[in-house]
Amino acid sequence: MATAMKNTATKDMCDMCSPKQVIAIMSCKGCLKDMCRKHFNEHRDKLSTDIYNVSDLRDNILQELQIAIDRASKSPHTGTALQLSKQIDEWKTKTIERVSQAAKEAHASVECLFSRKLEYDQVQQKVDQITNELKEQQESESFVETDIDHWMKQLKQLKSDLNRPSQVETNPPVLQIQSIDWKSIIAISTSNENYDKLSQNLFEQGILYSLSINYSQTALRLQ
Ligand SMILES: [Zn+2]
Ligand SMILES: [Zn+2]
Repeated sequence: MATAMKNTATKDMCDMCSPKQVIAIMSCKGCLKDMCRKHFNEHRDKLSTDIYNVSDLRDNILQELQIAIDRASKSPHTGTALQLSKQIDEWKTKTIERVSQAAKEAHASVECLFSRKLEYDQVQQKVDQITNELKEQQESESFVETDIDHWMKQLKQLKSDLNRPSQVETNPPVLQIQSIDWKSIIAISTSNENYDKLSQNLFEQGILYSLSINYSQTALRLQ
């Protein structure tokens, strides 16, 4: 049996006791150190403390995460996000107002183009004038052939004016609408290029992202 046993010279020594020569009875598969009984016990104790620290830090992170989640659920938009949301709402209101205004102006143009009120008012005025002349001349019986010719000529002209088709009937107007590029009309930019350019200014304002709003040349024109 004695020949089968390692002698002291070939045995592994405790790395912790080194340079003191103490025979190692265990080795750690993690750090690959050979250790005596005393040092192996200490080593395991240290590892137990270390794993406790890992759990402790994990618990701490979970706690912070829960606090962050609770805070976010109470007020999902804070600081920059809140400011951006406000700007988006302002853009929305302004854009709706501008669209309504453009539609209103287009409606007014249609109304104006198709209305013949001015024309009819003029015919009415001329007929009224002739009525007065006729009444006057009939009462005084002072009319002659030239007056009759004159009235007839005027009335025929008015009749012809009245029956003439309007300009919008002979040449109907068309609606021209420029399409809006909804993908580029409003965008949140986070590119570095923009960030560099705007960072100074935005930092002062406490805004970290830039919001670009472009009003396209929306034209509602009636020909
Ligand atoms: Zn040792
Ligand atoms: Zn170890």
